Amino acid sequence: MEEGKDVFDRPLHPYTRALLNAAQYMSLEVVVPEEFGELPDGFSGCSYYRLCREKTDACKKPQKLQDVSGRLVRCWKSK
Ligand code: SF4
Repeated sequence: MEEGKDVFDRPLHPYTRALLNAAQYMSLEVVVPEEFGELPDGFSGCSYYRLCREKTDACKKPQKLQDVSGRLVRCWKSK
């Protein structure tokens, strides 16, 4: 989802931010609420789509790695 320098200090991808936020709760069991639903068969959009709180219809398209100031990020919103 994201590669490059300063990933831990300045995460650009929503999933990276969620992982870093979750790190403080590592001992808790993570349960994905049913409200997040399932992806339709053949879905080719962002692999984080189901859980992302920042998603839009644009996220239903495949996401390419983009260079954002020297960081590689797989999220169109990180431009
Ligand atoms: S592409 Fe969309 S769903 Fe995926 S991480 Fe970015 S905002 Fe969230």
